Amino acid sequence: MLVYSLPGTFETREAHLDLLWEAGATGLEERAGLIRAYFDAQTDLPAELRDGQWHDEADQDWLATFKATLRPVRAGRVTIVPPWLRHEVEEGQVPLVIEPGMAFGTGHHATTRMAVEALGELDLNGARVLDVGTGSGVLAIAAALLGAEQVLGVDIDPITIPIARENAQDNGVPQGRAVFVEGTLGDELPDAWPGEWDGPADVLVANLYAELHDLLAGDYVTHLRPEGPLVLTGILTTKLGMVLAALEREGFGSVQVREDGEWALVTAAA
Ligand code: SAM
Repeated sequence: MLVYSLPGTFETREAHLDLLWEAGATGLEERAGLIRAYFDAQTDLPAELRDGQWHDEADQDWLATFKATLRPVRAGRVTIVPPWLRHEVEEGQVPLVIEPGMAFGTGHHATTRMAVEALGELDLNGARVLDVGTGSGVLAIAAALLGAEQVLGVDIDPITIPIARENAQDNGVPQGRAVFVEGTLGDELPDAWPGEWDGPADVLVANLYAELHDLLAGDYVTHLRPEGPLVLTGILTTKLGMVLAALEREGFGSVQVREDGEWALVTAAA
Protein backbone atom coordinates (compact mmCIF):
# COMPACT_ATOMS: atom_id res chain seq x y z
CA MET A 1 0.00 0.00 0.00
CA LEU A 2 1.52 3.34 -1.09
CA VAL A 3 1.07 6.23 1.35
CA TYR A 4 2.03 9.90 1.02
CA SER A 5 2.27 11.52 4.50
CA LEU A 6 2.01 15.27 4.91
CA PRO A 7 2.47 17.21 8.16
CA GLY A 8 -0.79 18.86 9.28
CA THR A 9 -4.45 18.08 9.73
CA PHE A 10 -7.53 18.23 7.50
CA GLU A 11 -8.25 21.60 9.10
CA THR A 12 -4.82 23.21 8.74
CA ARG A 13 -4.42 21.97 5.16
CA GLU A 14 -7.98 22.16 4.00
CA ALA A 15 -6.92 23.99 0.86
CA HIS A 16 -4.59 21.13 -0.11
CA LEU A 17 -7.06 18.27 0.17
CA ASP A 18 -8.51 18.86 -3.31
CA LEU A 19 -4.97 18.86 -4.72
CA LEU A 20 -4.39 15.40 -3.25
CA TRP A 21 -7.63 14.07 -4.75
CA GLU A 22 -6.73 15.65 -8.13
CA ALA A 23 -3.29 14.00 -7.97
CA GLY A 24 -5.02 10.61 -7.77
CA ALA A 25 -5.34 9.86 -4.06
CA THR A 26 -7.73 6.96 -3.45
CA GLY A 27 -8.31 7.84 0.21
CA LEU A 28 -7.32 10.37 2.88
CA GLU A 29 -6.86 9.82 6.58
CA GLU A 30 -5.76 12.04 9.47
CA ARG A 31 -3.63 10.41 12.13
CA ALA A 32 -1.28 11.80 14.83
CA GLY A 33 -0.67 15.18 13.21
CA LEU A 34 -0.26 13.76 9.72
CA ILE A 35 -2.48 13.55 6.69
CA ARG A 36 -2.09 10.17 5.05
CA ALA A 37 -3.05 9.98 1.40
CA TYR A 38 -3.33 6.57 -0.24
CA PHE A 39 -2.19 6.12 -3.85
CA ASP A 40 -2.07 3.21 -6.28
CA ALA A 41 1.18 4.52 -7.81
CA GLN A 42 3.77 7.22 -7.06
CA THR A 43 3.00 10.43 -8.92
CA ASP A 44 4.34 13.99 -9.42
CA LEU A 45 2.74 16.30 -6.87
CA PRO A 46 2.22 20.09 -7.06
CA ALA A 47 4.66 22.32 -5.17
CA GLU A 48 2.21 22.95 -2.27
CA LEU A 49 2.35 19.26 -1.40
CA ARG A 50 6.07 18.66 -1.65
CA ASP A 51 6.77 18.77 2.12
CA GLY A 52 5.51 15.20 2.48
CA GLN A 53 7.06 11.77 2.13
CA TRP A 54 6.28 8.62 0.16
CA HIS A 55 6.37 5.26 1.86
CA ASP A 56 5.28 1.78 1.07
CA GLU A 57 3.42 0.11 3.94
CA ALA A 58 3.01 -3.60 4.00
CA ASP A 59 -0.65 -4.61 4.19
CA GLN A 60 -1.33 -5.47 7.81
CA ASP A 61 -2.97 -8.80 8.30
CA TRP A 62 -4.64 -8.08 11.64
CA LEU A 63 -5.73 -11.65 12.13
CA ALA A 64 -2.18 -12.86 11.60
CA THR A 65 -0.90 -10.22 14.04
CA PHE A 66 -3.46 -11.31 16.64
CA LYS A 67 -2.64 -14.96 16.14
CA ALA A 68 1.07 -14.27 16.58
CA THR A 69 0.42 -12.86 20.06
CA LEU A 70 -1.40 -15.94 21.34
CA ARG A 71 0.41 -18.05 23.92
CA PRO A 72 -0.46 -21.42 25.45
CA VAL A 73 -2.75 -21.07 28.48
CA ARG A 74 -2.14 -23.36 31.42
CA ALA A 75 -5.28 -24.20 33.39
CA GLY A 76 -4.37 -26.72 36.06
CA ARG A 77 -3.77 -30.12 34.38
CA VAL A 78 -4.78 -28.79 30.97
CA THR A 79 -2.95 -26.48 28.56
CA ILE A 80 -5.14 -24.72 26.01
CA VAL A 81 -3.37 -23.96 22.73
CA PRO A 82 -4.15 -22.91 19.18
CA PRO A 83 -3.27 -25.68 16.68
CA TRP A 84 0.06 -24.16 15.66
CA LEU A 85 1.35 -24.17 19.28
CA ARG A 86 0.46 -27.78 20.03
CA HIS A 87 4.16 -28.65 20.21
CA GLU A 88 4.64 -26.18 23.10
CA VAL A 89 2.46 -28.16 25.53
CA GLU A 90 4.66 -29.42 28.34
CA GLU A 91 4.93 -33.12 29.03
CA GLY A 92 2.38 -34.31 31.53
CA GLN A 93 -0.13 -31.61 30.61
CA VAL A 94 -3.36 -32.47 28.78
CA PRO A 95 -3.33 -30.55 25.47
CA LEU A 96 -6.62 -28.90 24.51
CA VAL A 97 -6.48 -27.47 21.02
CA ILE A 98 -8.84 -24.60 20.22
CA GLU A 99 -8.79 -22.75 16.91
CA PRO A 100 -9.41 -19.07 17.74
CA GLY A 101 -12.48 -17.90 15.88
CA MET A 102 -16.00 -16.60 16.18
CA ALA A 103 -16.99 -18.47 19.35
CA PHE A 104 -16.00 -17.42 22.88
CA GLY A 105 -13.57 -19.75 24.61
CA THR A 106 -9.91 -19.73 23.58
CA GLY A 107 -8.76 -20.01 27.18
CA HIS A 108 -7.47 -16.45 27.25
CA HIS A 109 -10.33 -15.25 29.44
CA ALA A 110 -9.95 -15.76 33.19
CA THR A 111 -13.38 -17.39 33.43
CA THR A 112 -12.58 -20.11 30.88
CA ARG A 113 -9.22 -20.73 32.51
CA MET A 114 -10.71 -21.04 36.00
CA ALA A 115 -13.45 -23.36 34.75
CA VAL A 116 -10.99 -25.70 33.00
CA GLU A 117 -8.85 -25.69 36.14
CA ALA A 118 -11.88 -26.52 38.32
CA LEU A 119 -12.90 -29.38 35.98
CA GLY A 120 -9.35 -30.75 36.26
CA GLU A 121 -9.76 -30.97 40.05
CA LEU A 122 -12.86 -33.21 39.77
CA ASP A 123 -12.84 -36.94 39.16
CA LEU A 124 -14.55 -37.00 35.77
CA ASN A 125 -13.84 -40.61 34.89
CA GLY A 126 -17.02 -42.09 33.46
CA ALA A 127 -18.99 -38.92 34.22
CA ARG A 128 -21.69 -37.21 32.14
CA VAL A 129 -20.96 -33.53 31.94
CA LEU A 130 -23.38 -30.82 30.86
CA ASP A 131 -21.82 -27.56 29.62
CA VAL A 132 -24.31 -24.68 29.43
CA GLY A 133 -23.15 -21.85 27.13
CA THR A 134 -20.56 -23.99 25.42
CA GLY A 135 -19.21 -21.38 22.94
CA SER A 136 -16.13 -22.95 21.33
CA GLY A 137 -16.90 -26.15 23.25
CA VAL A 138 -13.77 -25.64 25.32
CA LEU A 139 -15.22 -26.77 28.66
CA ALA A 140 -17.09 -29.77 27.27
CA ILE A 141 -13.98 -30.85 25.36
CA ALA A 142 -11.81 -30.34 28.46
CA ALA A 143 -14.21 -32.59 30.38
CA ALA A 144 -14.02 -35.29 27.68
CA LEU A 145 -10.21 -35.12 27.64
CA LEU A 146 -10.22 -35.41 31.43
CA GLY A 147 -12.13 -38.69 31.28
CA ALA A 148 -15.84 -37.82 31.04
CA GLU A 149 -17.77 -40.59 29.30
CA GLN A 150 -20.34 -38.29 27.73
CA VAL A 151 -20.46 -34.54 27.32
CA LEU A 152 -23.29 -32.36 26.15
CA GLY A 153 -22.68 -28.73 25.20
CA VAL A 154 -25.61 -26.37 24.66
CA ASP A 155 -25.61 -22.79 23.45
CA ILE A 156 -28.35 -20.41 22.37
CA ASP A 157 -26.08 -19.02 19.64
CA PRO A 158 -26.32 -21.36 16.61
CA ILE A 159 -23.00 -20.15 15.23
CA THR A 160 -21.15 -21.90 18.06
CA ILE A 161 -22.44 -25.41 17.40
CA PRO A 162 -20.45 -26.35 14.26
CA ILE A 163 -17.39 -24.64 15.76
CA ALA A 164 -17.64 -26.69 18.96
CA ARG A 165 -18.14 -29.89 16.93
CA GLU A 166 -15.06 -29.15 14.85
CA ASN A 167 -12.98 -28.37 17.94
CA ALA A 168 -14.09 -31.65 19.53
CA GLN A 169 -13.06 -33.51 16.38
CA ASP A 170 -9.68 -31.73 16.30
CA ASN A 171 -9.07 -32.95 19.85
CA GLY A 172 -9.89 -36.53 18.90
CA VAL A 173 -13.09 -36.66 20.97
CA PRO A 174 -15.28 -39.31 19.31
CA GLN A 175 -18.67 -38.07 18.09
CA GLY A 176 -20.43 -40.61 20.30
CA ARG A 177 -18.98 -38.98 23.42
CA ALA A 178 -19.61 -35.31 22.70
CA VAL A 179 -22.81 -33.75 21.45
CA PHE A 180 -23.38 -30.04 20.82
CA VAL A 181 -26.89 -28.69 20.37
CA GLU A 182 -28.45 -25.28 19.99
CA GLY A 183 -30.58 -24.48 23.02
CA THR A 184 -30.55 -23.95 26.73
CA LEU A 185 -31.74 -25.80 29.80
CA GLY A 186 -35.21 -27.15 29.05
CA ASP A 187 -37.42 -30.22 28.93
CA GLU A 188 -36.14 -31.42 25.57
CA LEU A 189 -32.53 -31.51 26.78
CA PRO A 190 -32.38 -35.08 28.15
CA ASP A 191 -33.08 -36.42 24.64
CA ALA A 192 -30.03 -34.60 23.36
CA TRP A 193 -27.56 -36.64 25.41
CA PRO A 194 -25.25 -38.90 23.45
CA GLY A 195 -26.17 -42.58 23.58
CA GLU A 196 -29.07 -43.89 25.60
CA TRP A 197 -28.57 -41.61 28.58
CA ASP A 198 -31.52 -39.42 29.52
CA GLY A 199 -30.95 -38.67 33.20
CA PRO A 200 -29.46 -35.64 34.93
CA ALA A 201 -25.77 -34.83 34.55
CA ASP A 202 -23.09 -35.87 37.04
CA VAL A 203 -21.39 -32.48 36.63
CA LEU A 204 -22.83 -29.21 35.33
CA VAL A 205 -20.53 -26.40 34.21
CA ALA A 206 -21.72 -22.99 33.00
CA ASN A 207 -19.71 -19.93 32.04
CA LEU A 208 -22.53 -17.39 31.65
CA TYR A 209 -23.15 -14.32 33.83
CA ALA A 210 -24.48 -13.66 37.32
CA GLU A 211 -28.03 -12.62 36.35
CA LEU A 212 -28.44 -15.74 34.19
CA HIS A 213 -27.13 -18.03 36.93
CA ASP A 214 -29.73 -16.46 39.20
CA LEU A 215 -32.45 -17.21 36.62
CA LEU A 216 -31.24 -20.74 35.85
CA ALA A 217 -30.37 -21.87 39.39
CA GLY A 218 -33.62 -23.88 39.66
CA ASP A 219 -32.85 -25.60 36.33
CA TYR A 220 -29.38 -26.48 37.59
CA VAL A 221 -31.07 -28.52 40.35
CA THR A 222 -33.25 -30.35 37.79
CA HIS A 223 -30.40 -31.13 35.44
CA LEU A 224 -27.82 -32.22 38.01
CA ARG A 225 -27.87 -35.47 39.97
CA PRO A 226 -28.02 -35.13 43.77
CA GLU A 227 -24.61 -34.08 45.11
CA GLY A 228 -23.34 -33.59 41.57
CA PRO A 229 -20.77 -30.81 41.43
CA LEU A 230 -21.85 -27.51 39.91
CA VAL A 231 -19.19 -25.20 38.41
CA LEU A 232 -20.34 -21.66 37.65
CA THR A 233 -18.33 -18.77 36.28
CA GLY A 234 -18.66 -15.63 34.16
CA ILE A 235 -19.44 -13.93 37.47
CA LEU A 236 -18.11 -10.45 38.19
CA THR A 237 -16.90 -10.37 41.79
CA THR A 238 -19.21 -7.39 42.35
CA LYS A 239 -22.17 -9.68 41.52
CA LEU A 240 -21.03 -12.72 43.45
CA GLY A 241 -23.64 -12.10 46.16
CA MET A 242 -26.47 -12.59 43.64
CA VAL A 243 -25.17 -16.04 42.64
CA LEU A 244 -24.47 -17.14 46.21
CA ALA A 245 -28.02 -16.12 47.22
CA ALA A 246 -29.48 -18.07 44.27
CA LEU A 247 -27.51 -21.19 45.22
CA GLU A 248 -28.66 -20.94 48.83
CA ARG A 249 -32.26 -20.44 47.67
CA GLU A 250 -32.09 -23.67 45.60
CA GLY A 251 -30.49 -25.68 48.40
CA PHE A 252 -26.93 -26.02 47.06
CA GLY A 253 -24.22 -26.65 49.64
CA SER A 254 -20.41 -26.97 49.90
CA VAL A 255 -20.07 -23.61 48.17
CA GLN A 256 -16.51 -22.53 47.35
CA VAL A 257 -15.37 -19.39 45.58
CA ARG A 258 -12.19 -18.58 43.70
CA GLU A 259 -11.33 -15.30 42.07
CA ASP A 260 -9.06 -14.07 39.30
CA GLY A 261 -9.00 -10.29 39.02
CA GLU A 262 -12.56 -9.07 38.62
CA TRP A 263 -13.93 -12.57 37.85
CA ALA A 264 -15.18 -15.26 40.19
CA LEU A 265 -15.90 -18.97 39.90
CA VAL A 266 -18.18 -20.82 42.28
CA THR A 267 -18.32 -24.54 42.90
CA ALA A 268 -21.19 -26.10 44.81
CA ALA A 269 -22.95 -29.43 45.27
CA ALA A 270 -26.61 -30.12 44.53
N1 SAM B 1 -18.04 -22.06 27.60
C1 SAM B 1 -17.17 -21.16 26.90
C2 SAM B 1 -16.05 -20.72 27.83
O1 SAM B 1 -16.08 -21.04 29.01
O2 SAM B 1 -15.11 -20.07 27.36
C3 SAM B 1 -17.94 -19.95 26.38
C4 SAM B 1 -18.56 -19.09 27.45
S1 SAM B 1 -19.24 -17.55 26.82
C5 SAM B 1 -18.80 -16.48 28.13
C6 SAM B 1 -20.98 -17.71 27.09
C7 SAM B 1 -21.73 -18.51 26.05
O3 SAM B 1 -23.04 -18.71 26.55
C8 SAM B 1 -21.90 -17.81 24.71
O4 SAM B 1 -21.48 -18.68 23.68
C9 SAM B 1 -23.40 -17.51 24.61
O5 SAM B 1 -23.92 -17.64 23.31
C10 SAM B 1 -23.99 -18.58 25.52
N2 SAM B 1 -25.29 -18.27 26.16
C11 SAM B 1 -25.75 -17.06 26.57
N3 SAM B 1 -26.95 -17.19 27.15
C12 SAM B 1 -27.25 -18.52 27.14
C13 SAM B 1 -28.35 -19.30 27.61
N4 SAM B 1 -29.41 -18.75 28.21
N5 SAM B 1 -28.33 -20.64 27.43
C14 SAM B 1 -27.27 -21.23 26.79
N6 SAM B 1 -26.22 -20.54 26.32
C15 SAM B 1 -26.19 -19.20 26.50
